[in-house]
Amino acid sequence: METTFLSSILERGEWLLSFGALIAVLGIPALARYVVLLVPTFRETRRLNQEVAAKQVTKSFYNPIQNRSKFWGLLTTAFIFTFILPFCLTLEPQPIWQMLLDMFIILMFYDFFYYLVHRFLFHDGGFGPGPLMWVHAVHHQQKNPCRLDSNYLNPIETCMGLGLYGASIGALAAMMGPFHVATIVITWIAFSEINLHNHDRMSEESDRFPFKYLKYMSFMHHVHHARFTAGNFATISLFYDWLFGTYDVGQGWGKNKRENAGNSGAGAGGKPVAG
Ligand SMILES: [Zn+2]
Ligand SMILES: [Zn+2]
Repeated sequence: METTFLSSILERGEWLLSFGALIAVLGIPALARYVVLLVPTFRETRRLNQEVAAKQVTKSFYNPIQNRSKFWGLLTTAFIFTFILPFCLTLEPQPIWQMLLDMFIILMFYDFFYYLVHRFLFHDGGFGPGPLMWVHAVHHQQKNPCRLDSNYLNPIETCMGLGLYGASIGALAAMMGPFHVATIVITWIAFSEINLHNHDRMSEESDRFPFKYLKYMSFMHHVHHARFTAGNFATISLFYDWLFGTYDVGQGWGKNKRENAGNSGAGAGGKPVAG
């Protein structure tokens, strides 16, 4: 009986497809980098971030924290691609509109739960200190982060972030049916590139079309890092911060916003140096 149950699970799992997706998720950004770096603004952004990162890695405590997070991140990724994604993938052809809609749903579904975790577990979200503030405090040691700092995390946070993303795909696939493998590859790359980019330092020159929105995204996450009491808790978009009143352009939100309003000095919001 148990063997039948096990073999029926094994038959349903698309392990080869999941392995292919993993290769694509790791390989495509590595190859795309060559094309992206043909754009002078992206080359300049990389130079700026490498310059800051070079100083970061000279600190004795820096690399051990990076490596520990990387190790647990790889382990969590392997877990997701072995035990969750094989049951969420298909190669059945789907219309483009459906794939685009699925990508939107996956990223916004994840971002909603990440928003809640980040606001209420990692920060004081308005109902008192979150129980995991001590975990998240590691990431917030960086008050003006660079791209590399996106992985400067307590490993509990690394596993929670990735685990939440994997669980979001699993839950949605259970409700909506399997996703096309290309949908999962593209959203996974978007998820990790957005997380990296939020920490990018960008120069003032990049504050122009078509890079303006990218600059604004990273500026808003730098606002979040500048003070532990700042807003901007979502990671993929700022929609939930706008919806729930935690959108913060540097002047704080909620209780902190009112306190700041009492200050006469400009820049009371502790505007970060984002680029
Ligand atoms: Zn935070
Ligand atoms: Zn961050």
